[in-house]
Amino acid sequence: MPPRTLSNYYKDDWKSGEADFVDIISAVNGKPVARTSSAGIDFADMVRHGRNVGGPALRAMTFHERAAMLKGLAQALMDRKDDLYAVSRDTGATDRDAWPDIEGGAGTLFSLASKAKRELPNSTIILDGPIEGLSKGGTFVGQHIHTSKLGVAVQINAYNFPIWGMLEKLGPALMAGMPVIIKPATPTAQLAESAVQIMVATGLLPKGAVQLVVGSAGDLLSHLTGQDVVSFTGSAATAAKLKTHPTIIEHSVPFIAEQDSLNASMLGPEVAPDDEEFQLFVKEVSREMTVKAGQKCTAIRRILVPSSLVDAVQDALVQQLSGISIGDPADKATKMGALVSAAQRADVVSRVGELEDEAEIVHGSLDEPTLVGDGAQTGAFMSPVLLRCSSPLSAEKVHSVEAFGPVATLMPYDSVADAIELCRLGGGSLVMSLFTHNKSVAREVVLGTAPFHGRIAIINRDCARESTGHGSPLPVLVHGGPGRAGGGEEMGGVRGIKHYMQRTAIQGSPDILTAITESWVTGAKTDTSTPHPFRYKFGDLEIGKTIETGSRTVSLEDIEHFAEFTGDNFYAHMDEEAAAANPFFPGRVAHGYLILSFAAGLFVDPEPGPVLANYGLDDLRFLAPVTPGETLTVRLTAKSKKKRNDEYGEVNWDVEVTRADGKAVATYTLLTMNAI
Ligand code: NAP
Repeated sequence: MPPRTLSNYYKDDWKSGEADFVDIISAVNGKPVARTSSAGIDFADMVRHGRNVGGPALRAMTFHERAAMLKGLAQALMDRKDDLYAVSRDTGATDRDAWPDIEGGAGTLFSLASKAKRELPNSTIILDGPIEGLSKGGTFVGQHIHTSKLGVAVQINAYNFPIWGMLEKLGPALMAGMPVIIKPATPTAQLAESAVQIMVATGLLPKGAVQLVVGSAGDLLSHLTGQDVVSFTGSAATAAKLKTHPTIIEHSVPFIAEQDSLNASMLGPEVAPDDEEFQLFVKEVSREMTVKAGQKCTAIRRILVPSSLVDAVQDALVQQLSGISIGDPADKATKMGALVSAAQRADVVSRVGELEDEAEIVHGSLDEPTLVGDGAQTGAFMSPVLLRCSSPLSAEKVHSVEAFGPVATLMPYDSVADAIELCRLGGGSLVMSLFTHNKSVAREVVLGTAPFHGRIAIINRDCARESTGHGSPLPVLVHGGPGRAGGGEEMGGVRGIKHYMQRTAIQGSPDILTAITESWVTGAKTDTSTPHPFRYKFGDLEIGKTIETGSRTVSLEDIEHFAEFTGDNFYAHMDEEAAAANPFFPGRVAHGYLILSFAAGLFVDPEPGPVLANYGLDDLRFLAPVTPGETLTVRLTAKSKKKRNDEYGEVNWDVEVTRADGKAVATYTLLTMNAI
C-alpha cells in the first residue's frame, strides 16, 4: 500500500500539504506508512479562525454543554478504538502499550467531563474562593473569578502518546472555552490525525474549535499574544528553544511545559528480600522499563536501593528482564515492541554511551536483539538495558542524561538522607515512587522530596493490588513537575481547566458582585415577598429570594429533651459547672445540632412542592453559644443554582441563624435538589 498522505484540519476543512513532504516510517518493518506536510497553511489565518470563529462558539456554551461535548468525543473514540489500535501498531506499540494512549486518552476526557459537570456551574465563569470582606460596613467586597482567555490554545505534543497527550490538553482547553490548534510530533502524527478525524466526524465540535497541523509548525508561534496559551510536551532542549521564542517573551504568552525527567523509584531502607515490597518493587521497575519500550516521560530511570540489597535487586531484575520477548507488536508472544524509529534507537544508544561514563551495563546490550514475529525487521528494536552506578552521589550524568528507551540505572544508597539527596539530584521530576510499609520512612521521604516532584506514589502490600502504579498520570491528579520536568502542571481534575482562563479579582458592592457572578453575596438585595422560596420550581427561583423566619426560644427543657432523644449528653450541654469552666461557654449551651434542627423547623415550608431533597450542608460554622432562654431567627436566601439534568437541579441556600442580640450563631450553605 502506498503511504497515506496526512491532512491538516485547517479552517474546518481537511487539507493536505503542498510540498516538502516528510515520510513517517513504520517502527516495525521500516516501510513508509504516511507522509506529512503543512506547506500551504497560512498560520496567521489559522490562528485568526480559531480566535474569531471557534472562540465565540465555545464561549457561548456553558461548562455543562462543553462537558457533554467532551463526553461525546470520548465515546466516538471508544467506538472506533479498533481502528486506532491498528494504526498504533506501526508506531512500535504493542496493544498493551497502546491501551493508555487510546483508551486512557478517552478515559481522561470522560473523567474531566464528569468532574466538570459535578464541580462547575452550568455557566461560563468559575468563582475562585469565597467573597473577601474589604470594608467594615460590608458595602465593598472582593471575589476572584476565572474567565475564558480570548485566544487559541496551541498544543505541541511529544511522539510517545499521540492520542492521550493530545486529549489531556484538548479536554481542559475546550472545557475552558478556548479553541485548540494541535501540532502532533511527526513520527506518530498519523495516529493523532486518525483520532482528530474521528472527533471531527461526530459533528459535536463547533466550527473553528479544533484545527490540526501535520508537519512543521512554521511561523505559528509568531502570531500569538497574551490571550493565547502554548502547552508543550517534549524534550527539554525543544522546550528551551520554544519558550524563548521572541513572541512568547514579548507578549508573556503562557507556556506550559512538560518535558523529560529522570524519575526515581526507591526501595525503602527497611525492606527485606522476602518482604512483599521487594517483589512489588522489582516488578514495577521491570514494567516501567519495558512498557512502551521505555518511551514514557514518567518511566523509572533511576532505581534507588539500600546498599545491602543492591545485588539481590540486580539479580531479581535481571531475571525479570530476561523474560521479556521483543518483536512485532502485533504478535501475541511479544512483550516489548519497538522504539518509534531507527533515529530514536540511535539516540538512545548514544545516551547509554554517555551513561557508561559513570555506570556499567549489568543486563542487556546495545546490539540488535533477537526478535519474535515475522513482521519485525527494522533497526528500531532494542533490548532492555540495566546499568549500575556504584557512586551515584558524586555522579552527574546518571541524574541528567535521559535515554528515552528501555534503560534505567541501579544506584545504591546508605541512608534515607542520601536517598533523598539522590532523588533531588534529578533537578525536578514528574514522579517518584517509594516502596515501603514503614510510615516514618514514608513521611521523611515525602517531605524531603515533594518540592522536587509533581507526584509521589507510595506503594506497599496494603495498596499494591489496587494501585495504578508508578508511571500512570491520572486525570484527577496533577501531572507535571518542577525544574528539569518543565515547571508545568496539567490535569488534576478541574484544576487543569484554569490554565486556559484568566483569574481576575473583582471589587465592588454586594449587589454588583451578585449580578456579575450570579451567586448571591451577603449584603446584596434580597426579595422577601411571598410566596415562600420553597414554592418556586428550579427555573423560576431567583437568586436573592429570601425567607426571614419567625423566632423560637431555646429552653433548658429543649436541651435536655434533645440530649435524651439523641444520646448526646456532652458536658457542655448537661453540666453547668463543667461547661462554665470551658473557655468558650458561659455555662450550659444548646447543642449545635439542636440549633440546626430548630433552624430547619423555622425555615421549612412543609407542604409537598418543588424541593425534592436536602442533600447536605457546606461550610457550617457555629459562631456564638446559645444559652437557655435565647431566641433564634433564621434568614434563608437562594444563593446559586446548578442544573443537574432535565428533571432537577441543585440549589445552594445561604443560611444565617441569629440570636435576639443580632449576633450570628450559625452560618452555612444548605444544599437542596429542586424540580425543574
Ligand atoms: P521533541 O523532539 O522535543 O518534540 C516535541 C514536539 O515539539 C514535537 O511535536 C516536535 O515536532 C515539536 N517541535 C520541535 N521543534 C519545533 C519548533 N521549532 N517549533 C514548533 N514545534 C517544534 O520531543 P519528542 O522526541 O517528540 O518526545 C520525546 C521527549 O518528550 C522525551 O524527552 C520525553 O521525556 C519527553 N516527554 C515528556 C512528557 C511529559 O509529560 N513531561 C511526556 C512525553 C514525552 P516534530 O516532531 O515535527 O519535530
